[in-house]
Amino acid sequence: MSWKERIKQRTNPLRSIYVKIAFSFVLLLLLIFQIVGIIFVQQLKTDNLKTFKQRTELSSYVENTLVSVMSHPTKDMDARIHKVIAGINNDNIMTIQVVDPKGVIRGVSNTDGRNLVGQKTTDNDIKRVLYDGKTDTKMLVNRSDNHRYYVTITPLLSTTGNTNTVVGAVYIRASLDAVYNAVNNVTMIFATASLIATVVGLLLALLIARTITQPIEEMKRQTTRIARGDYSGRVKVYGNDELGELATAVNDLSVRVENAQASTEAERRRLDSVLTHMSDGVLATDRRGLITIINDKACALLGVAEHDVIGKSILDVLGIRGQYAFRDLLEKQDEIKINLSDDGHEQILKAFFSLIQQQTGYTAGLVCVLHDVTEQQRVDRERRQFVSNVSHELRTPLTSVRSYIEALNEGAWKDPEVAPEFLRVTQDETDRMIRMINDLLNLSRMDSGTVKLELELVNINELFSYILDRFDMMLAKNQEAREPQLTIKREFTTTSLWAEVDQDKFTQVIDNIMTNAVKYSPDGGTITCRLQQQGNNVVLSVADQGLGIPKKDLDHIFDRFFRVDKARSRAQGGTGLGLAISKEVIELLHGKIWVTSTEGKGSTFFISLPSEEYEEGDLWDENA
Ligand code: ADP
Repeated sequence: MSWKERIKQRTNPLRSIYVKIAFSFVLLLLLIFQIVGIIFVQQLKTDNLKTFKQRTELSSYVENTLVSVMSHPTKDMDARIHKVIAGINNDNIMTIQVVDPKGVIRGVSNTDGRNLVGQKTTDNDIKRVLYDGKTDTKMLVNRSDNHRYYVTITPLLSTTGNTNTVVGAVYIRASLDAVYNAVNNVTMIFATASLIATVVGLLLALLIARTITQPIEEMKRQTTRIARGDYSGRVKVYGNDELGELATAVNDLSVRVENAQASTEAERRRLDSVLTHMSDGVLATDRRGLITIINDKACALLGVAEHDVIGKSILDVLGIRGQYAFRDLLEKQDEIKINLSDDGHEQILKAFFSLIQQQTGYTAGLVCVLHDVTEQQRVDRERRQFVSNVSHELRTPLTSVRSYIEALNEGAWKDPEVAPEFLRVTQDETDRMIRMINDLLNLSRMDSGTVKLELELVNINELFSYILDRFDMMLAKNQEAREPQLTIKREFTTTSLWAEVDQDKFTQVIDNIMTNAVKYSPDGGTITCRLQQQGNNVVLSVADQGLGIPKKDLDHIFDRFFRVDKARSRAQGGTGLGLAISKEVIELLHGKIWVTSTEGKGSTFFISLPSEEYEEGDLWDENA
C-alpha cells in the first residue's frame, strides 16, 4: 500500500487511542470497584452474620434456667418455661420452641403457636438434636416469599458428675432479613458510588486522553501535509514531555524535508538548465534501457519529440536495434557512430555511453551523450578532397612540363619549328602553376584571418567603369585578332554609389567575373554590366550570353577547384579558384555574391555590398 493510500485510510473511531485510553480507564475503574466491592460486601456479610448469630444464641442464664426447669418437671413447668422465653428480648427472633426429651413442645414464644404446646414436634432436626445432644444450626430460604431464616436447635444438657443428660432442646428461628437488608443497602450505596466514580472517571479519562491524542492528531495532520509537499504548517508544542519532544522533532523534520526538497528541486532545475543549454544531446535510461530523460538538443538531433520517446527503448530511438543489444551498450567503452543521413540531408552523430552506477555498484541505467559530427566529417572530407585536388591540379601541368622538357632534351630543341612552341607551353603551364599557388596562398591567408583589408570609401561607378574600360580595350585587341565579337553594355545608376572596399581585392573580384564572362562566352554576344542601388546595398551584376551553368552545379560554383568543364577551364588557364577567392573577399567586405544561370543561354553574377552615404567631409578627412 502506498503512503498516499495509507494516509487516506481513516482511523477507525473504535480503534483510536482516544477511545482506547478512555475505555481502558473505565474498565480498570470498574474492575477495581468490582473487586473491592465483592471483598467489602462479603466481609460485611460475614461480620453481620457473625454478630447476628451471637445475638441469637441462648444466653447461659436462659439456658441454665431452662435446664433447671426441665430437669425437675413441675406442674407449672410450662408457665415457667413461657416466662423464661418471654424474657428473651430479640427483635430478629421469630419463634422459640422449647421441647422436652420426648419431643413434646413445652413452650412457644409467639402467641399464634400456643396451640402447639403439648403436641409432639414433627421437626426431624429437633429429634436428632434430642438424640445426639449436639447443637444444630442452618440457614433456610423460603422460596415462596424469598425470606431467609436462621435456625438454631440447642440441646439443654443437665450435667451430673461426668454425664450429660439431654433434658430438652430449644428451637430458635430468626429472620435474616435485617442482615441481608443491611448488606443490600451497603451494596446499593457502593454500586451507586462506583457508578458515579466511573462516570467521573470516564470524563477524566476522556480529558486525559484528549491531552494525549490532540498533539498526536496535530502531528498526524502535519506529517500528512509534509507527505503532500506542504511544509508551511508547524505543530504546536504543548509541553516538555515526550509528546512535546516528538512535536519539536516533527517541526524539525518538516524544516529539514523542506530544505532537502528545495535543494533537490534546485539541483533538478540546475540539471535541467545544464541539459537544456548543452550543445550536445543527452539521454538517460533506466536499467532496462528505457529512456527517462532526453534534452532538447538530443530531440533536435534525432528529430523526435520528448513525449514520444520517453519510456521507449534507447535502441529504437537511436535506430541501432539491429546492430546492438542493450547489454552491448552497457559494456561499450568506445563511442559508436550513428548515421541518420537521408536524401539531401546529411547527419552523422557520435554516441558515447557511460553507466549510472550507485554506491553499491548496482547499475541504475545508462547515460548517452550525442555529439553532432556532421560538420567535422564534412570538413575532414573537404580537407582530404582539397589535398587530393591540389595534388592533382599540380601534377597535371608538371607532367606536361616534364614531357615537353624531355622532348626538348631528346633533341627537339634543335628543331626551330617545335622548340619555341614547346617552350611557350612550358612557360604557360609554369605561369598557371604559379597563379594557382598564389591563389591558394591568398585563400589560405583569408582562411587563417591574416588578410589585412585596406578599406576606403570608393565610388563604385568610377571603379567599375575603369575596370570595364580595360576589358573594352582588351576585347578591341582580341577582335583585331579575329576572335568572336563581344560587346560590353553598361547600365549604371546616374548617381554615384559609394561603398567601403579594399580597392585591389575588389578589382580582383570583378576582373575574375569579367574574365569568366569573356572566357565562357565562346560565341561572343553582349556582356551587360549593371550597377544599381537596392535598399541599403550597392548591387553589381555581370550578365553574359555564354555557356551558362548546369542547374546541378549552381550550388558548387563557388567551391574550391570546382569547374563545370575541367578540361576546358584548364585549357584556358583557369585554376578553379577564382570564384572561391571572390566569395571569400566579398564576405570579408560584408557583402554577398550569387549567380543565376540557364544552361546554354548565359549566366548572371551578382555582388551586393552595403552602400555608404557619401559626404563631402569624408574625402577631406581622408586627405587630412
Ligand atoms: P576558372 O579558373 O576555372 O574560371 P572560376 O572559379 O573562376 O575558375 O570558375 C569556376 C567555374 O565556374 C568555371 O570553371 C566554369 O565552369 C564556371 N563559370 C564561371 N563563370 C562562368 C560563366 N560566366 N559562364 C559559365 N560558366 C562559368
